[in-house]
Amino acid sequence: MAELLQVRNLKKYYPVKSGVLQRTTGYVKAVDDVSFTLHEGESLGLVGESGCGKSTLGRTVLQLIKPTAGEVVYDDKNLSDLSFREMKPYRKELQMIFQDPYASLNSRKKISNIVTEPLRIHKISTIKEREEKMEEILEKVGLNRAFADRYPHEFSGGQRQRIGIARALMLNPKLIIADEPVSALDVSIQAQVLNLLQDLQEEFNLTYLFIAHDLSVVKHISTRVGVMYLGRMAELAPKNALYKEPLHPYTQALMSAVPVPNPLIKRERIILKGDVPSPQNPPSGCAFHTRCSACMAICKEQRPELKEVQKDHFVACHLY
Ligand code: ADP
Ligand code: MG
Repeated sequence: MAELLQVRNLKKYYPVKSGVLQRTTGYVKAVDDVSFTLHEGESLGLVGESGCGKSTLGRTVLQLIKPTAGEVVYDDKNLSDLSFREMKPYRKELQMIFQDPYASLNSRKKISNIVTEPLRIHKISTIKEREEKMEEILEKVGLNRAFADRYPHEFSGGQRQRIGIARALMLNPKLIIADEPVSALDVSIQAQVLNLLQDLQEEFNLTYLFIAHDLSVVKHISTRVGVMYLGRMAELAPKNALYKEPLHPYTQALMSAVPVPNPLIKRERIILKGDVPSPQNPPSGCAFHTRCSACMAICKEQRPELKEVQKDHFVACHLY
């Protein structure tokens, strides 16, 4: 598969200010040296506990937040080097779907207005063409075209997320970063929206970076999965390899929480000790060592690099 986008050593540090003078006294290392490649047509699932930097990573990739360091290479260009204007043509191809379908739609605008807005911003096509495109896309996401004259509050959570998806599709994007697109929805609706995203991917040859906080959500939609812990990638592998044999003790713990369809198979649930440490003050060595059942002396001192231990299977752990 051809490479679509490369993330190289990406970092985003937020300054922590304190005191009367608001001096910078430290940094929250929300994303700390993350690298991966997205291939055309694939769907990379990104999981990890709340606060581990998933949203920050998604937004820095799209340059909605400027990275502290590192590169995002798309179309042979480092997006971080581009000015706002130079970035504009790429914004069409790189779209985002947000977690909260309530907050991400302007409640005072009609659906038609919300969905056609990207075309107006980019000054694309005539009013009539925009309308035709909107009708086509509404139908694709499973919404009646008559809904165009209504307001967001008239819709259920699942329908609103479909509206958000329609808006993201209006500019024929190549890559969609979906930041926990189903987390706010009822379980019964989650599967419908996931199926829709999967159908759309096939139809429009989309590439996804799909963010979720647990492994069960990304299982069906992903071709590869990355597991993040405190701003870093702990493990990155093709889906089947990861679900069959998770290598990182953190991935193993997350995996033990995924329900098994067969009730005769009992899986030992690994309960992680303690809370996620603060990303402002991460533990020394391997950031996971404070909660790891396999912790060795070296883990407290030396940070493990992400290395390929089986074909295409990367893990950052001293056990390997
Ligand atoms: P996730 O999406 O995995 O829950 P986030 O990317 O939202 O994680 O956050 C990662 C870390 O960065 C958290 O500790 C969060 O508090 C911090 N953070 C996120 N946004 C900001 C910001 N604008 N300013 C300061 N800290 C932030
Ligand atoms: Mg988030």
